[in-house]
Amino acid sequence: MQIVREPARMREVVQAARAAGRRVGFVPTMGALHAGHASLAAEAARSCDDIAVSIFVNPMQFAPHEDFNRYPRSFDADCALLDRQGATWVFAPAVEAMYPPDNATRIVVGGPALLFEGAMRPGHFDGVATVVHRLFQAVPADVAFFGAKDWQQTVVVRRMVSDLSLPIEIAVCPTVREPDGLAMSSRNAYLSPPDRSRAVALSAGLERGAELWSAGAAPHEIEAAVRDALGARGIDCDYAAVVDPESLDDLAVRDWAGPAIVLVAGRLGTTRLIDNAFLPRRPPGQLPRPTDQLPRPTA
Ligand code: AMP
Repeated sequence: MQIVREPARMREVVQAARAAGRRVGFVPTMGALHAGHASLAAEAARSCDDIAVSIFVNPMQFAPHEDFNRYPRSFDADCALLDRQGATWVFAPAVEAMYPPDNATRIVVGGPALLFEGAMRPGHFDGVATVVHRLFQAVPADVAFFGAKDWQQTVVVRRMVSDLSLPIEIAVCPTVREPDGLAMSSRNAYLSPPDRSRAVALSAGLERGAELWSAGAAPHEIEAAVRDALGARGIDCDYAAVVDPESLDDLAVRDWAGPAIVLVAGRLGTTRLIDNAFLPRRPPGQLPRPTDQLPRPTA
């Protein structure tokens, strides 16, 4: 496994591999790697000959009051994990290599990027899109792998790739969870032990929401159940929303059969966590019926 620091060098080695007929997969990350990131590399290994993984904590996607400086960094352990996963290259550029001092160009994203995380964190997705575009320039792979854990990010990236006709496929991989259901995240490291045990309310709330969905609940009932699950553990809910998985718009009543996605964000002290659950298409017999016929919560 080779560690590459220079974008131009990275581009050269990827282009050479592709010119030799090799399929190249790319996994962008901010490091502090866990089993969720490893699953993306494993998925890349299944379908590609060479894998590039970037480790770059992107200052542009953090607001000044956010956690850029304290974001966990564990480069040596990350490299050991990626070596075990069979990565070919780790791309770890310096901030100045990605953003030379005189750089003056940004990607500004609209539509679904303005909702949810985009509304809570203004400019966040412009920073994500700008760095992903720059990373795609440095790593001109056949396919890039993203986690469904950050669903809105996958929507924003796919929209950018389509709008700008970028020559790369986007693959979305399932969320990897801790045994109790909490979605793995580098930010889980911030949680105190009591907050860590409360944090399970996000995935538990989503599970309850998915159960209600299968039982025929209306979107607003699912949203209320997810908000209640967070509220019961003292977690401030930034949003809980059942939306169209592609546009992230509210579901029109005629679309209540789905598919849909329920997105949630909650705050435990200074830590913000996000999660989501896919809600598959429901057969007509399972469309919304009176609330009093719904199953009661199990816990
Ligand atoms: P990050 O390092 O947090 O920017 O994440 C890098 C990539 O890993 C993104 O595509 C994330 O969606 C993905 N990822 C993060 N956590 C998970 C998880 N628990 N399961 C699957 N993918 C994840």
